[in-house]
Amino acid sequence: MKQILALTCLSLFACVSCSLAQTQVDPKWQIHDPNRPVPPVIDPGTASTQGTPGRPPSDAIILFDGKDLSKWQRKDGTPAEWKVVPVSPSPKTAEEYLKKTQGENGYFEVVPKTGYIYTKEPFGDCQLHVEFAEPQPAKGQDQDRGNSGVFLHGLYEVQVLDSYESKTYADGQAAAVYGQFPPQVNASRPPGQWQTYDIIFHGPRFDTSGKLLRPALITAFHNGVLVQDNVELTGPTGHHVRPPYTAGPEKLPLALQDHNHPVRYRNIWLRELK
Ligand code: MG
Repeated sequence: MKQILALTCLSLFACVSCSLAQTQVDPKWQIHDPNRPVPPVIDPGTASTQGTPGRPPSDAIILFDGKDLSKWQRKDGTPAEWKVVPVSPSPKTAEEYLKKTQGENGYFEVVPKTGYIYTKEPFGDCQLHVEFAEPQPAKGQDQDRGNSGVFLHGLYEVQVLDSYESKTYADGQAAAVYGQFPPQVNASRPPGQWQTYDIIFHGPRFDTSGKLLRPALITAFHNGVLVQDNVELTGPTGHHVRPPYTAGPEKLPLALQDHNHPVRYRNIWLRELK
């Protein structure tokens, strides 16, 4: 009986750890083994500037490239109604040129009261890149100031908020895992400027009976600065609530929050983690 239990524990552990990043040296290969397969070659892309979004890595799935919301929809499957200001491929006037080079096109913007938008495709463990800009001039205070959010699995919010020289509760400011983990630092840029989130997300795992085997994990960088270091979520995020996990699939759509504020987004891509 003890043996069976030990084996069950071992296989459960193996199952959970195999779905996470590799944490142990693979004993299959000798050190510096010339026969060990080398990783695939990719083009890493380029970094963004305020004026121009960077080029995503060549193996990324592009969720918004400045043109349209074809990868997104409302929760009920109807078309996303957020405003798109598409990138102008060849500016014809000085004004168009200025807009293109100052980051004033090639984005989409929350249209208040039209609802969250969701990716048409579901995603599991991933590296996610999102750029956003807070409304300029800033309006409102506290949580009522440039509020939106990046919802991994549509359930776990990394808060989007104008936290530049603006106070709110710590676990609800920009780059917080909402209601659970304040960011390590406030790395916010002023409203109107483009900001980046780079998020590593590992979804929760459940056994066949729906029991939680491993919580969701988030690591996040705000404007390149580490703000969440592999935090273990208590469950879905919420306002004044920390609901428990409910067993679900390993892949679910990613969502962006409509919190009634015209927050802008551009250059969204993700890489699925194997
Ligand atoms: Mg929010």
